Parts: sequence; C-alpha cells; structure tokens
Amino acid sequence: MPKTEHWQWYVEQFGPTELHHHAIEETFFAGRTAFQEVAVIRTAAFGKMLVLDGDTQSSQADEKIYHESLVHPALAAIDDRRNVLILGGGEGATLREVLRRPDVVRATMVDIDGDVVELSKRYLPEWSAGAFEDPRARVVVGDALQFLRDDRDSYGAIVSDLTEPLEDSPSNPLFCDAAFADIKRRLVPAGVYVLQASTAGFHNMALHAKMSRTLRRHYRFVRSFYAHVPAFDNDWAFLACSDAVDVAAVPRERIEDYVAGLRGESYFYDAETHVRLFSLPLYLRRELQKDGDVF
Ligand code: SAM
Repeated sequence: MPKTEHWQWYVEQFGPTELHHHAIEETFFAGRTAFQEVAVIRTAAFGKMLVLDGDTQSSQADEKIYHESLVHPALAAIDDRRNVLILGGGEGATLREVLRRPDVVRATMVDIDGDVVELSKRYLPEWSAGAFEDPRARVVVGDALQFLRDDRDSYGAIVSDLTEPLEDSPSNPLFCDAAFADIKRRLVPAGVYVLQASTAGFHNMALHAKMSRTLRRHYRFVRSFYAHVPAFDNDWAFLACSDAVDVAAVPRERIEDYVAGLRGESYFYDAETHVRLFSLPLYLRRELQKDGDVF
C-alpha cells in the first residue's frame, strides 16, 4: 500500500458510519459565506472540487457526467427551449450545458450565494467555460424561492441544481408542496421541471423516493434517472417532471437530432446514454413504489 501520512484529507461524511476520504493537493479557498461553508480544493484523484457544507458539489474529473445528465434529457424532451430557468447551479456548469443549445434565447440562473459564484469564476473557470459572459445568460444573486414568487415569466424548462435539502441548508425551503407549486406556476404547460434529486445508492435512496412521492402529487409524469458519479462515490439521481411529456420515453431519433444540435462536444450524454439513465434497477423501482414520507 502507498503511504498516506503526508496528505491532508478532505473527509466527506455520508452518514454516522460512512466516511469518504480525498487527499488534498491544494486548497484555493476555505471559509464561510453568509449562507454556507465553502471549500475549493484540488484533490489527487478528481482534480479541483467545490465542497459546500462538507458535501462534494462537483469535481473537475467528472462534473460533465452530472451536468450533462441534469440538463440534456429535459431539454431534449421539450419543443420550446427559448427560455430556461436554473435554480442554484453556482459553478456555472449547468448554465454552460443549457447554453450549448443555440435555440436557447435566454438562460436565467438564480443562486443565493454570490460568493460561490465569484469563487467558481475565479478558481473553477473550466466549469462555466465562458457561459457567464454569454449575452444570453442572466445571473441573479438571490433566493430562488423569492425569485419564483416575484417573477412573472414562463419557462420551457426549469432546472434545479440546488444543494441537498438538509435541515439547515438554504435550499431546504424549495422542497415542499408550496415551493413545488411555485415552480410549476413558472413552467409552460408543455414544460419540464428537472432536479438533482439526491442519491440512488441502494443504502441511501430514501430522500430520492421522498422527493419523487411528493412531486407525483404535482405532475402526471415524474421519472427517476441516475448516473454513477465517481467523485460522489455514488449513483446520483435526478427527477424529470412534466404534465405533457414523459422524459423517459423520448424517441431515440429525437434525442439524436437534439444532440446533433448541441454546440461543442459532449462527454457523457447521447441517445444511448439516455436509455441507460432511465433504466432503473429493481431495488430502486421497488423503493419508488412504496408508500412513505412526503415533504
Ligand atoms: N451538484 C450539487 C450537489 O451535489 O448538491 C449542486 C450544485 S450547486 C453548487 C448548488 C447551489 O445551490 C449552490 O451554489 C448554492 O448557493 C445554491 N443554493 C442553495 N440554496 C439556494 C436558494 N435557496 N436559492 C438559490 N440558490 C441556492
């Protein structure tokens, strides 16, 4: 075994009995903003990483797996992509993926923490890759829930890239019936609401199932999908919600056309990956069918 003593470690605590260790090569920033603990580090295994309140948000090595999965199945499913809203998404990578479609006329990103956005611009420019300077991008620093309540616009897609809704997280108020209704009010009738929706790992899928159960009270189609994200050391889940379109059943030719219309090269998502994202193991399908908690 190689020696480990000389490293400093970032320890992500998954639960009372589960710790994941990452050797730190460099710390760019570590401190507290008005909303959360922030660390921007470079790890030996995954390159640069953003960590909020002790949770890995994304890593240089595999952020495209997460961000392409979050954005593209939903955008492939809708016809009208002119106006897209992003809730959270501080690193700017969700914005980057949305703006890869030339038919997006305006992408509005609302993140509560201007310091996270600025730190991402400074230390993680690979994530946004110029998206913040795109004239179609509108970045609002503010609470997404307040924004949804004040805004009068309608969006073809609303993409939620918020932190986990833990008790003391600023994202927590966006996970309840009232907030889900606020989100739906801003969606066009044929639109899709897609969200990062916690883990789909066999030992910690309860929160995902709770989100799904709650959202099924609001939408006709609520589809779970997931990708393995190595830096999270977990299967990461998403939910695609709509009254008009079943994102799990988008025809292959439609996805091929959509992907062909993306600017730049994709890393993870195409028509083949779409099928894999929505193909769920039996244990997860069973969990989703169970009765249980709602928000
Ligand atoms: N991939 C991520 C994960 O694994 O949880 C989410 C990434 S992104 C960095 C999460 C963003 O949500 C952060 O920048 C945070 O500031 C933002 N956020 C949390 N609560 C918010 C709120 N109420 N309104 C707007 N943005 C919020």
